[in-house]
Amino acid sequence: MQQVWFIYEEKESFKQKLLEFKNTDRVSSTGRRMFQIYSEILKPTVIQEVTDAIEECFPDIPYIGCSTSGNIIDCELAGDITVVCTDFELLTTRFEIFQYDMAKQSVDEITAQIVEETKKNPWVKAIEMYFTIPEGSTTQFCDGLKDIREDIQVFGGVSCSDDITSDDSCVFTKAYGFSETSIVIVFYGGEDFHVDSIKVTGWKPLGREFHVTKSQGSLLQELDGIPAYDVYRKYLNINNDENFFYNTLEFPLFYEHNDTTILRTPVSSNADGSLNMTSDMDIGSVVRISYGDPSTIVDSIRHDSQRLAQFGPDVLHIFSCAARRTFWTNREPTYEIEPLYDISTSCGFFSHGEFLRTKGSLNQHNVTLVIAAMREGEKKASPAVPQAQDNYMMSRVPLVSRLATFISVTSQELENTNKQLALVNDKLKMAAIIDGLTGLYNRKEIQGQIEKALADVKREQFSLVMLDIDNFKQVNDTYGHQEGDSVIVALADILRNRRTGLMQSSGRWGGEEFMVLLRGTDSSSAAYIADLMRECFANTSFPGIRPQTVSLGVTQAREDDTVDSLCTRVDMALYRAKQSGKNRVEIE
Ligand code: GH3
Ligand code: MG
Ligand code: MG
Repeated sequence: MQQVWFIYEEKESFKQKLLEFKNTDRVSSTGRRMFQIYSEILKPTVIQEVTDAIEECFPDIPYIGCSTSGNIIDCELAGDITVVCTDFELLTTRFEIFQYDMAKQSVDEITAQIVEETKKNPWVKAIEMYFTIPEGSTTQFCDGLKDIREDIQVFGGVSCSDDITSDDSCVFTKAYGFSETSIVIVFYGGEDFHVDSIKVTGWKPLGREFHVTKSQGSLLQELDGIPAYDVYRKYLNINNDENFFYNTLEFPLFYEHNDTTILRTPVSSNADGSLNMTSDMDIGSVVRISYGDPSTIVDSIRHDSQRLAQFGPDVLHIFSCAARRTFWTNREPTYEIEPLYDISTSCGFFSHGEFLRTKGSLNQHNVTLVIAAMREGEKKASPAVPQAQDNYMMSRVPLVSRLATFISVTSQELENTNKQLALVNDKLKMAAIIDGLTGLYNRKEIQGQIEKALADVKREQFSLVMLDIDNFKQVNDTYGHQEGDSVIVALADILRNRRTGLMQSSGRWGGEEFMVLLRGTDSSSAAYIADLMRECFANTSFPGIRPQTVSLGVTQAREDDTVDSLCTRVDMALYRAKQSGKNRVEIE
């Protein structure tokens, strides 16, 4: 592949350049080429002049284009309207252009058609996408492409305008025309076509985790239950004023989704403290504020671009977030991508969102640099690989970057400690209400539950069942204390049994005595259930011990009862069961 670029100023001079190019034909060509137009000017009439000139000089050559927030040629900012001509040098290389209108078709229909096209075209190795700014999030679109063949790389960007906060954007192709609501898709592939794609952010997570507790599409309402804006005010002292966007740009939110890290930037803040984000973030996402430090960013680009250099591309397509351009304005907007210059020719644009498929999932990123490297045939002699000058860089890491690391590590340690404390706390809470031997509630807890049930007895009746194992001293005396314990546990297991589907709370009242609270149950139903318990226990066999029995007392709570009077009454019932022969149920 080879690329030749033109800066468009006005139609006639542009046509002149195109004709010169056509006549000299410096590029040895298979005759297959494609024009790509990047335009910071959105006016359809201006764009039409550009495409007319191309059609007049190259009537058979397809073109695609998009609006941008700045055009990139060879790692530098190029003209307002930049035209790139890509020549495919090998006959085996193929490409195909599609355009889908989101205003005319549903997202599901579009993704289904793209998936279908990839099935029909097994030669496809890469899909490049140019999106106009969508109304909602692109998550549904991204998820809709999950069924395309695993080895196909997907990358691209959302077109935009030079006003980063505006929703104006357009795409166009020769075959389908100009549109403000479409997606342009380019398939690349063929036997000798090779592709690799990466994303680089360079922003590092900073500080503690926050949970997204309320969000709706791109509107981020709450983090950890408080208005999202308050997090920026409290931790970064950023005011809710006209500089909000620029101040938060250094501190976008960082989170994991589909196994990859994603950045989202607040575009503006609302009176209720909610934030308009660059794209959506699901409720439940765990986010951190991240920090963009110039030298850390440049270092990570240098590091990641080594992989591209080793790939030995013919061309690089760069999709860089418009927010990055703003971030670097006090230097050069393309300062950070200089390390890519030596790798190969490059073209691209500043976008409103960047797409990359990683680990099989396609995601929309923000504040991110997505770079696609493409090549026909064997890799050319390797260019000078930009070295990540580790030692040199390490000694140069600025104080602020070290501090960011320090804060991040210490807050992560604190979070881990907090998680362990929460676990211990849960265990302690359980220990305070659960009996150690049986796992049922302890006496204090079951008493508390009886008290609560009594306070509500007018609304919901309930009954108590009290149980005491018969002749239990003998079990201990004959078989030993340990065997005795296993009998206690066996009865507890029966009382815990939820097969009855009843609202029941069971507790260990003492030694081998138990109390069961049956909600919504009158005394006769309770007696029926108590008898089932009795029968079940009598039929339980114990290895090496003869079958055991239990006596049960039942009573229904009355409106004038106290915990004491109620427990005394059920105890009386139990006493009567013992007196009248044991292994039976008595109602008081
Ligand atoms: P009754 O039918 O009248 O209830 O006769 P009993 O022998 O069961 O008499 P009682 O209820 O007074 O005896 C309770 C015995 O339970 C006394 C004690 O040795 C035993 N015990 C109490 N707590 C435990 C325990 O945690 N484990 C074991 N193995 N035995 C216990
Ligand atoms: Mg007893
Ligand atoms: Mg007993």
